[in-house]
Amino acid sequence: MNDLYLFSIDLEDVRFQMEDGRRFAERVPANTRRYLAWLKARGFRCTFFAAGDVAEAYPSLIREILDEGHEIGCHTSRHVPLDRQTPEKFRADLESNVEALRRAGAKDIRGFRAPIFSLVEKTAWAYGILRELGFAYSSSVLPAKNPFYGWPGFGPDPKIMDGIWELPMTVARFGPYVVPPAGGVYFRVLPRPFVMRAAAKARGQGRPLLGYCHPYDIDTAQERFMHPDINDSRFYNFLMYYNRKSVFPRLEAVLKKGFKIVPYAEFVKTLVIPSS
Ligand SMILES: [Zn+2]
Repeated sequence: MNDLYLFSIDLEDVRFQMEDGRRFAERVPANTRRYLAWLKARGFRCTFFAAGDVAEAYPSLIREILDEGHEIGCHTSRHVPLDRQTPEKFRADLESNVEALRRAGAKDIRGFRAPIFSLVEKTAWAYGILRELGFAYSSSVLPAKNPFYGWPGFGPDPKIMDGIWELPMTVARFGPYVVPPAGGVYFRVLPRPFVMRAAAKARGQGRPLLGYCHPYDIDTAQERFMHPDINDSRFYNFLMYYNRKSVFPRLEAVLKKGFKIVPYAEFVKTLVIPSS
């Protein structure tokens, strides 16, 4: 399979990750439906990695996603990064994430994404638990140094970790940094020609382009508040809101280059186990 764009939505409601966050307006269902409409109009299906609290708050939204033929994966129950969990807590967390998604109608749950790419060398115990709970793949590694998490030595290609395929994010060099050009804030904030060149480079190397967006990434009408898990940094919070209007035009630009969006599970089926 060539020209693949493994576009995904990390389906979370940042208000649920904040104390008293529900005092702010509900934005997630409306913005998720904008992604659904865009995907439907272009005839593509993708993967939604959904937090359990989102499935509990908006079960009908999960059903709408499934009815349109998209894949649903797990993104933990309460969006707690893996280094703040223990293996025991993570297992219970994931079971309850699966259960919440099943109650909302999801059946074949095969994929996982760690919150904030918190699957790193120190939390690689997570793969064994994913395998035991019947998962097939994870897309939870940012194979670069990052202000929050990152696993620079992982490498750019899918790898089997403890029986689970890990599909690392696409990364590219930007000046002194190595960043995920198709991911949320980076996709919005970095210069568009850089993002397009990085996409072309991944394709040229025979790799799919892996990227993610959140409901908030397209939300130009969201009220201002300090987002969780960015160390209360005003600069990062500025970036959280920056250039949200650019997301759909940039997605269009990627498709114009001939990329095709497919659900992660379909890509995983094409992977061949390396012979040792
Ligand atoms: Zn997330």
